[in-house]
Amino acid sequence: MSIADNLLKYKKELEGENVELIAVSKYNDAAAILEAYAAGQRIFGENIVQELVEKQAALPQDIQWHLIGHLQTNKVKYIAPFISLVQSVDSLKLLAEIDKHAAKNKRVIDCLLQIYIADEETKFGLDHAEAIELLRSEEYLAMKNIRITGLMGIASNHAEEKQTKDEFQELKSLFDGIKVSFFRKEDSFKELSMGMSGDYKLAIEEGSTMIRVGSNIFGARKIKHYKA
Ligand SMILES: *Cc1c(COP(=O)(O)O)cnc(C)c1O
Repeated sequence: MSIADNLLKYKKELEGENVELIAVSKYNDAAAILEAYAAGQRIFGENIVQELVEKQAALPQDIQWHLIGHLQTNKVKYIAPFISLVQSVDSLKLLAEIDKHAAKNKRVIDCLLQIYIADEETKFGLDHAEAIELLRSEEYLAMKNIRITGLMGIASNHAEEKQTKDEFQELKSLFDGIKVSFFRKEDSFKELSMGMSGDYKLAIEEGSTMIRVGSNIFGARKIKHYKA
């Protein structure tokens, strides 16, 4: 199936659901992204800053770019002028840096807190206590140029369905708790980004509002290093 066919399939599947499709285009070249763009897709996710910056410059300016991979504080400045959503905020220090560069660019940058839900050592993210601590901190409360619009999580790789479901439920209940405790009056806190090619159906059942789908749209990733 072509990229356009794959997107159409998702469009049909998501009809009537309150779920946004983020096309994860990492390692895919500009031609593949343009194919998705021509089929109507406007939101793309990338996980490497350099790749994201090159693509943003080369591709249509009405694309909304999401950063979904770990962000080093010294790279925030490169994406601050244009990034639509940073899905992978995993520390107060990073959030402070985003706030600073958003101010320099005279904008407010939307962010999701990445929550660690997988049963693996290697994944980035905050645990529950760290997320609450961040939201309670004076430093966060003083920030004027970021807006936290929800949470993001990555489930364990190759897990049994039951475990994946548990991980998504854990994230959803944390989301509900944080919503009530910190964002009751803010409609903008509404995104729960969970679900990828292998587990998006389960994620939607458990309350996802954003799925991040790469290989199901673009095919299996062959290139490991993108060259513009
Ligand atoms: C690569 C990636 C995805 C997409 O993965 P697929 O399995 O190809 O759909 C989603 N989220 C994050 C954080 C990723 O790094």
